[in-house]
Amino acid sequence: MPQRTVPVSSRLSDVRYEIRGALSRRARELEAEGRHIVRLNIGNPGLFGFAVPAHVRAEVEANLSRSEAYCHQQGLQAAREAIAAREIARGAQGAHADNVFIGNGVSELIDLTLRALLNTGEEVLLPSPDYPLWSAATVLNGGRARYYPCPASRGHLPDPDEVEALITPRTRALVLINPNNPTGAVYPRELLEALVAVAERHRLLLLSDEIYDGILYDDAKFHPLAPLAGDVPCVTYAGLSKMQRACGYRTGWISVSGSEAKFAEFRAALDLLSALRLCANVPSQWAIVPALTGPDTMSALTAPGGRLFEARRAVIEGVRASEFLEVVAPQGALYAFPQVKPGALPAFDDEAFALDLLETESVLVVPGNGFNIRERNHFRMTLLPQPAEIGDVFARIERCLRRTAER
Ligand code: PLP
Repeated sequence: MPQRTVPVSSRLSDVRYEIRGALSRRARELEAEGRHIVRLNIGNPGLFGFAVPAHVRAEVEANLSRSEAYCHQQGLQAAREAIAAREIARGAQGAHADNVFIGNGVSELIDLTLRALLNTGEEVLLPSPDYPLWSAATVLNGGRARYYPCPASRGHLPDPDEVEALITPRTRALVLINPNNPTGAVYPRELLEALVAVAERHRLLLLSDEIYDGILYDDAKFHPLAPLAGDVPCVTYAGLSKMQRACGYRTGWISVSGSEAKFAEFRAALDLLSALRLCANVPSQWAIVPALTGPDTMSALTAPGGRLFEARRAVIEGVRASEFLEVVAPQGALYAFPQVKPGALPAFDDEAFALDLLETESVLVVPGNGFNIRERNHFRMTLLPQPAEIGDVFARIERCLRRTAER
């Protein structure tokens, strides 16, 4: 008898995550054959020798023996109080430890908040390009992604009128990723105010992914959304993965702010969904208080002479020296999103290029269309290698592009 295959959910047919997709599997095969692959696909600082700050790690180690039981579904009280205190100090209306939920990374909380919010067919406004988990979680929870463009021609910033034009009676939420992954854009205050006004006019929930909130270059100024949102309900996402270089701790949080009367039901839904999964990983929650109240360990990395600053400079120089590429200089976060100059490579296809670059030059990047854009002319690379290695990375990229031009 023919064997019946295990069926999978049709909801998965629109779900992609190219950051760890087919190219990443191919890279592992090449590594198994003994090749060294320069992995520029994942924003995982720990793989590149960045360490969790000692005062943060020490608190986790010291509290391991107190971490054996489940904790409250929303997370450890002291950690939630530290998160709420930061939100209150920044001026977020309605911020309170009771409105903070700690999760296994921001990833879990993106899924949880969309699950709490969406009915089948309801729409979420997402940036294009986006961080693809946002699209995936929207679709997996029965929703539809509607994309507002953030093109390179506008410094990867959205246009509030274009955002508003996408709204239908089924639209429930407006997602912002600021500082942005994959583009590195940091949104100016007036733009954020205009987006808040759109959300207010149409009663949308604001979902602000601020996981890169302190990773800023040059004079970029970050404005948290919650204080600008006033009483408009707003969920702010942040965590340890990037700011504390602690991706493996799997710890992130949300703070729900705005008018409590408006978000009470949504808050109760978050509480129920949090309880269903019992609680987040407890040991690493001890890292939250020292992370939020201890010394700033990021500025030394992003200031001139710092490792991330110099890596970003080397990437910008690598692109400027290229015959084929251009880039909007990232103002924040851990990535650059270069594109092919208009007309420079008529046959360029981002997926074919990324595969070619991996096979021939052992460099792993992510094709731009993995971030839900229509154009096929971008790729994303991280700013995590040692600055001194980046010149060699660009020599390899340029060789690969030249071969594409000659084909
Ligand atoms: N949001 C953005 C914009 C990200 O770039 C990432 C990870 O790269 C996440 C959320 C998820 O982070 P984590 O689950 O490690 O907290």
